[in-house]
Amino acid sequence: MNKILVIDNEFEIVEMISDILSIHDYEVKTALDGKDAIKSAIQFHPDLILCDISMPETNGYAVLKALRNDKRTHAIPFIFLTALGGMHNLRKGMRLGADDYLAKPVSAEELIAAVRTRLEKHHQITNHYKNEIEQTKYDLEISRNYDETTGLPKRIVLERKLKQHATNTTPSSTLALLIIKFNRFKNITDIFGKNDYLRLIHELVERIENETSIEKNTYSISDDEFGIPLNNISTRKSLTQLAKKILSAIRIPVALENRELNCNASIGLSVSPNSSIKPEKLISNAEIALNAALEDGFNTFKFYEEKLKKHAIDQINLESALHKALERDEFTLYYQPKINTSNQNIIGSEALIRWENPNYGLISPTQFIPIAEENGLIIPIGEWVLESICNQLNDWKRAGIDPAPVAINISARQLEQKKFVDSISSILEKTKVENELLEIELTESILIKNSQKISKKLVKLRKSGMKVAIDDFGTGYSSLAYLTNFPFDKLKIDQSFIRDIATDKAAASLATSIISMAHRLGVRVIAEGVETEDQIKLLKDHKCDEMQGYYFSKPVPVDRFTDLLKNNSLSL
Ligand code: C2E
Ligand code: CA
Ligand code: CA
Repeated sequence: MNKILVIDNEFEIVEMISDILSIHDYEVKTALDGKDAIKSAIQFHPDLILCDISMPETNGYAVLKALRNDKRTHAIPFIFLTALGGMHNLRKGMRLGADDYLAKPVSAEELIAAVRTRLEKHHQITNHYKNEIEQTKYDLEISRNYDETTGLPKRIVLERKLKQHATNTTPSSTLALLIIKFNRFKNITDIFGKNDYLRLIHELVERIENETSIEKNTYSISDDEFGIPLNNISTRKSLTQLAKKILSAIRIPVALENRELNCNASIGLSVSPNSSIKPEKLISNAEIALNAALEDGFNTFKFYEEKLKKHAIDQINLESALHKALERDEFTLYYQPKINTSNQNIIGSEALIRWENPNYGLISPTQFIPIAEENGLIIPIGEWVLESICNQLNDWKRAGIDPAPVAINISARQLEQKKFVDSISSILEKTKVENELLEIELTESILIKNSQKISKKLVKLRKSGMKVAIDDFGTGYSSLAYLTNFPFDKLKIDQSFIRDIATDKAAASLATSIISMAHRLGVRVIAEGVETEDQIKLLKDHKCDEMQGYYFSKPVPVDRFTDLLKNNSLSL
């Protein structure tokens, strides 16, 4: 029942209006003077107010003004009811915020019609606002819980899910969490656009869910990390099998509209026996395991262990140590020979940076290069690497050793620098090293961003005599057809393919088709990560030009490499 407050100093009028309203099922409150009316409006909080204008002391305008200024009453529909006619009064009332105006004497029909219209209108408006508020609340809830781009539930939903699992499980059951990180997925929407990205994610999520046989069980942890909670697998052995199956499923190329993508991932696993580990901890353990897996390269997985935790804490201190590493002269270069497949001679090397820190010992570049890329230190570090290579080439020359070309690894951040080409050239000039002795290794994923600018830089480098190689080929998003947009001399097949060529038919056929396609394009091919004779045989049979890997030599300190160069034959 709607409540109406009727205000008039004439008792008879108040009575008459109240009667009409009561007959029409309105609950009525009355006031005979302005001050009283204001109090009443606050207490009674009517759905509508009918108010006379001319009243002694506090008149209708004053009442309206007071009500509009009070948060508790400012939105109540307000109709003036008065014998005062004329546009002047009407306008004054409207200006103060009256909703309608009824001239006395008013008929019952007129009164009821005006009241109904006003109440309806008010109802519509409040409903509209209510809906809007509800919608905003809903939107907020969605954006808090679901990833904007993929629509996948986010980490906080995962935490809730893990809590739910923990409370629903029997004491003996095990809760496991897999965190899957896709290789080079960061900024992928910028590179491919949203549609291709969504198709890719959809496909990969489907593959993962096929392997786990649980639908709608993928949670978005970040752009490139996804969490999969499992409470139906309890042994380490079956989790291991599952992780392997997921990794292989991800490696099957994904066909998008205009291209085929090769994806890779790493997995971190954490397990909560008897559901004893808190959800947040289960997630952070899986993250720690994931980081450890990433250090072993892609297509790897690791279970969380206590000893990994110490390592993860060190990671935080690593960055500050890295800032001081250059001035403290803590970097060195190791060299790994590149072998000519046909005669097994050394035909060059790859310089690989090492960091020897007094507190941490020898730190792998897979650990500190990503940090250096993020904080920009890669620029001075890269310059140091190039200068050291050039000085080394001169040392070999001075010692009468034929210097074989050296490959240097270049990160995206370096290549994206405006002065990149100039800074390389000036170091080569300063050290008087021939450009032909330098080979630039770039990963294919670097090329996709800003391709025109980068292509121009590569043209310049090659014109000056340097060689350009595409590193880690097969792990990024680009196809060989796409790469033909870039000028390059050499393709380096990623070690994750070479690892499997002797045992896995799919890897072998991929490697061999890369070799033949590259040859058709007039590009040399090198296989990295060569460790066994079976691999060498296959690579030889398919005319892979060069090889590099532990089978021939690990990356070694310069003195050891100098010996290898002197003999130019390895003790195989
Ligand atoms: P990368 O360019 O793909 O280098 C090859 C990595 O594979 C090296 O790891 C090498 O030691 C390892 N490797 C070589 N042969 C084998 C093998 O037969 N089996 C196995 N399992 N591994 C093999 P490393 O030295 O730890 O370097 C890791 C990555 O760090 C490099 O990957 C490269 O991306 C980056 N990096 C190294 N030095 C530099 C540098 O001076 N500048 C930049 N920007 N990145 C660097
Ligand atoms: Ca490399
Ligand atoms: Ca590589």
